[in-house]
Amino acid sequence: MVIRGIVFDMDDTLYLERDYVRSGFDHVARMLATSELEARGTADWLWSAFEAGVRGDTFDRLLAANSNLAARTTAADMVDAYRAHSPNITLSPGAPELLALLRQNGLRVGVLSDGPLVSQRAKADELRLDAWFDPILLTASRDGFKKPATAGFEWIAAKWSLLPAELAYVADNPSKDFVGPRRLGWRTVRLRMPQQVTYALQPTNDDQRPDAEVTDLSQAVNYLTS
Ligand SMILES: [Mg+2]
Repeated sequence: MVIRGIVFDMDDTLYLERDYVRSGFDHVARMLATSELEARGTADWLWSAFEAGVRGDTFDRLLAANSNLAARTTAADMVDAYRAHSPNITLSPGAPELLALLRQNGLRVGVLSDGPLVSQRAKADELRLDAWFDPILLTASRDGFKKPATAGFEWIAAKWSLLPAELAYVADNPSKDFVGPRRLGWRTVRLRMPQQVTYALQPTNDDQRPDAEVTDLSQAVNYLTS
């Protein structure tokens, strides 16, 4: 059956998450700093930790390593500032042209994204996703929609009045992205690029395995529309 609706993940699918991380670290570092030099040093420290693979407790580690900063703030406040900041991110190269083409050809395009509402809304705003996508479903806005649940995907299918075999999900993270849409009978495509946070992740069972793996968005669209 011909694909008539494509849903995209947001983080590391429509833009690179590492760009968001860097933008957030720069923002938090500037917010805390008493000088440009100190801001640069803090941002560099945070980025080095990210590049070294630190995830989840980066701000705690920074404060443990820097008593001056620890006297001024808490990790919780840093997380809040990070999530609320207006990020410096852009759609992946070629994405606007692809989306325009899909819409010209009458396909529906939407977004389904997990993550804290405040940060996901700020990203969607900065990327101007509403110029392309309808709906933009941020799963944190509804109980029971967080991946790997099927509820969000079913909600979009109903909104578009399309059958499972007419639908596809393009995303990056095998640990949670493909389980729900696969269960519903959607086509699934993994976008996999070395710059992604999830690049090294492998599916651990068949439920997590996408139908196809591609290295850029245009390949994903080609696979789904040819
Ligand atoms: Mg993602």
